[in-house]
Amino acid sequence: MKVIVVGGGAAGFFAAIACASLEPRSRVTLLEAGREPLSKVRISGGGRCNVTHHCFDPALLVQNYPRGGRALRGAFSRFQPRDTIAWFAERGVKLKTEADGRMFPITDNSATIVNCLLDTAAAAGVELRSASPVKTIELLPNSPEFAVSLQNKTLVCDRLLLATGSNPAGHRWAKALGHTVRSPVPSLFTFNVKDPRLQELAGVSVESARLRLLDTEEKLEQTGPLLITHWGLSGPAVLKLSAWGARMLQERRYQIPLQINWLSQHNLETVRQQLERAKTDAPKKQIINYCPLPLPRRLWQQFVQAVGINPQRSGRSWRKMS
Ligand SMILES: Cc1cc2nc3c(=O)[nH]c(=O)nc-3n(C[C@H](O)[C@H](O)[C@H](O)COP(=O)(O)OP(=O)(O)OC[C@H]3O[C@@H](n4cnc5c(N)ncnc54)[C@H](O)[C@@H]3O)c2cc1C
Repeated sequence: MKVIVVGGGAAGFFAAIACASLEPRSRVTLLEAGREPLSKVRISGGGRCNVTHHCFDPALLVQNYPRGGRALRGAFSRFQPRDTIAWFAERGVKLKTEADGRMFPITDNSATIVNCLLDTAAAAGVELRSASPVKTIELLPNSPEFAVSLQNKTLVCDRLLLATGSNPAGHRWAKALGHTVRSPVPSLFTFNVKDPRLQELAGVSVESARLRLLDTEEKLEQTGPLLITHWGLSGPAVLKLSAWGARMLQERRYQIPLQINWLSQHNLETVRQQLERAKTDAPKKQIINYCPLPLPRRLWQQFVQAVGINPQRSGRSWRKMS
């Protein structure tokens, strides 16, 4: 049986290896448009490649996926992070777990993963053709075969696997072959926020902020590290919120009110108490120079000005802050 896998990324390699190993009599050809396959794996995880996650319960694992959780539950019950770890271990690649559960090769180098996939594919007999962009794909008339056209030639196969990542051509081919494809939307992005209160604060970060998208039907909020940038907001809390709210944000054309609790470990009452205490602890200190809360100094100073307090004042003005 002739199998063609289109796309030499992580998915294409893993699929081609699986086909060639499970059905050794098949002829598996892997077509990659670029000169170098696995280019995204190489840059993944900041060059270290976050291979999998230390979570071995499919029901828990799918809770980390904003979309597709139900479909993934089935896939994870057949092949889950434990299998990924064993798969790489069998090929001499050991993984380690970081405090947050992310798993990387012990070499801290994505090249370890790239080389493992290249070597395993070669050993399994996968024919890799780099610099081979697929131009068109057709189901041959009155035949179960596919015609896969490259620049100068057409290949024919019995089975076709599309692993072209985010390339819209891959989605078009899948649709033309009868699959249902839901249009993808951006995810894992930073927020562009034009709020004068954030000006001059680029580089300021807090360890744990709670972000909530307002005026939405479902509750969309995330808590985690937050970074103020030159154009708005970034950091894990923002990226996660963008992933969970991806479809809704796109529907609303990315115009949506955002509420930030810069002190996620506090509530209104405990903040009030801290400010009240500051009145007695530091009655003579200038408010601008005395922050009784665990906030970066520059952020505090911005808040003092934003609520309209004379920055040189002390004592009674604490009331206005609270
Ligand atoms: C900066 C960054 C860091 C990341 N870090 C991590 C991480 O640490 N861990 C993690 O799990 N995920 C990470 N990701 C996400 C991860 O890279 C992707 O989820 C993953 O690469 C998707 O793999 P894929 O094989 O589906 O698609 P891709 O990697 O996009 O591969 C698709 C391949 O298909 C080829 N192709 C497309 N069209 C054609 C065509 N017509 N003919 C032939 N070939 C074609 C492309 O050239 C490409 O090589 C990261 C992503 C980015 C951008």
